[in-house]
Amino acid sequence: MGFRCREVLPDVLHIEDALGVCMTLLRGSREALLVDAGYGLENAAAFAASLTDRPVRLVLTHGHYDHCLGAAGFPEAFVFGEDAALVREHCGEFWRRRALESAAQRGIRTDAEAFLSAPEPVWRALAEGPIDLGGLTARAIRCPGHTPGSAVFLVPERELLLTGDDWNPYTWLFFPEALSVREYRDNMLKLLELPFRHVLCPHRWELYERSALETFVLGLTDEVLRAARPVDTGAWLGIRTAEAEPAPGQCLVFDPERKDRRLPGAG
Ligand SMILES: [Zn+2]
Repeated sequence: MGFRCREVLPDVLHIEDALGVCMTLLRGSREALLVDAGYGLENAAAFAASLTDRPVRLVLTHGHYDHCLGAAGFPEAFVFGEDAALVREHCGEFWRRRALESAAQRGIRTDAEAFLSAPEPVWRALAEGPIDLGGLTARAIRCPGHTPGSAVFLVPERELLLTGDDWNPYTWLFFPEALSVREYRDNMLKLLELPFRHVLCPHRWELYERSALETFVLGLTDEVLRAARPVDTGAWLGIRTAEAEPAPGQCLVFDPERKDRRLPGAG
């Protein structure tokens, strides 16, 4: 049990929690920014504070429980308004119990009472645009897809893009709150206009080069989507999912019948 952490670029720390989900700490000269907070089985706020002597602000890429439950140790946290209801739902008892089940399956011992009763932070609306940390900037960008309020963060000084769950080498786009695959693709294509060379995502420990994301997004052609194979996603019965392989070794699992939601796109 415990976090592991490494500095992948100067003052960019990628941190993995006990259940294998990652968050990223950006250390500026005035302030630090923690992007996502993990499952919260351990104290993400205390761990982040141990890595910097500056105040730590928490932002979330989206409202899913494996990214938001670790927010419990923070007084406040920022998420795009489109995910405000989702994040409150995912901080509720149902999702906390799911996290405890995952911990039990892995033999991780935790104080269940404390975990179930940990207070939520005050949720605040994330604004698009730059967050100046002092020598390091994180630009919050809307990119609806994995969820309606999904955010990516561009760190221009490090030519780095933090994708949230909008991209992992194995990307899930089928939860009820996800957008249609074509809307998702449109928004992801806009990300390729951004100036970045490196990519971090929450469900991998590696620092990727731009080409990994680029081949994935450009590989989401109509032909590739039509060739997607039905795949059983088990617990999420009722949603017929299909798996496309837009690039070698990368997959997108999506709901081919999902209707467009017509949200404002990435910009
Ligand atoms: Zn997610």
